[in-house]
Amino acid sequence: MTTGRFAPTPSGMLHVGNLRTALLAWLAARSSDNGRGRFRLRIDDLDPAARDREVARRQLNDLATLGIDHDGAIEYQSERFDRYDAAIGQLGGAGLTYPCWCSRAEVQAASMAPHEDGWPEGAYPGTCADLDTAGRNRRAAETGRPPALRLRAGGVTSTIDDAVHGRFTGIVDDFVLRRADGVAAYNLAVVVDDDDAGVDQVVRGDDLLASTPRQAHLARLLGVTVPRYVHVPLVTGLGGERLAKRGGATTLGELEALGVTPPQVLAHLGRSLGMDPGDETSLAVDLLTKFDLTRLPRSPWSVNPTDWAV
Ligand code: GLU
Repeated sequence: MTTGRFAPTPSGMLHVGNLRTALLAWLAARSSDNGRGRFRLRIDDLDPAARDREVARRQLNDLATLGIDHDGAIEYQSERFDRYDAAIGQLGGAGLTYPCWCSRAEVQAASMAPHEDGWPEGAYPGTCADLDTAGRNRRAAETGRPPALRLRAGGVTSTIDDAVHGRFTGIVDDFVLRRADGVAAYNLAVVVDDDDAGVDQVVRGDDLLASTPRQAHLARLLGVTVPRYVHVPLVTGLGGERLAKRGGATTLGELEALGVTPPQVLAHLGRSLGMDPGDETSLAVDLLTKFDLTRLPRSPWSVNPTDWAV
């Protein structure tokens, strides 16, 4: 049975681009398996700076307003550190981790050229990979910092299947599993979370495509299912700029203040996903029979949601 999910980071209110991804993820899941597909919600609050329960509550409220319902309990990454530790322990036990003292600036300076030969942007060049005990002690003393923990991936290639982008291959660098501050890295958490929730269909923005071969590789190492992926082109402003969570009228609340109702927002989102929403759309479920993933536009959606107020 298909299980999809949406996993917002509570760093600000959801803008129409986030809402569109959520709607698409919900439609893709709920339209699967003759309407029996499941849909989970998760709050990606790994980062202490984005651990805001009030923002999360308001995000969830906006999803509910659009009729994006869910199965099971809502998971919070901030409550799942023991699960991440277990996965890191499994990898460590297999000799696949090593400590790294490099600062962000050092990694950037030494990083592999982006997009060259399939390396993801900011790929780690392996500076700390082969330190012996003396070398590790020296780095620890030099930096005075606790180390991050990296995966020993050895530059393998990893291929994923994506409903929008087709087969996508990337080289897996020795990416971070646990940050120096002790917080699990997103690439690790997302694999553990999706597997624990039984998620096998991941719909999200294509800004995350470049990191997906890393996650698929990790899933294979941990012996868990690699989900099917749908990486959707981002929503941009009319000038091609990325929609920000702050600034401009792009959230449900801001649009409502301009007189644009949630059903009208839903109709615009539906149209942007290749559907003819008609006049009767008030909740996500009203779009379900009209949904066809193969009609999803393949290019970014440029929009100024303020124009919806007439
Ligand atoms: N939490 C991420 C975001 O808000 C999405 C992660 C994912 O879908 O895997 O951009």
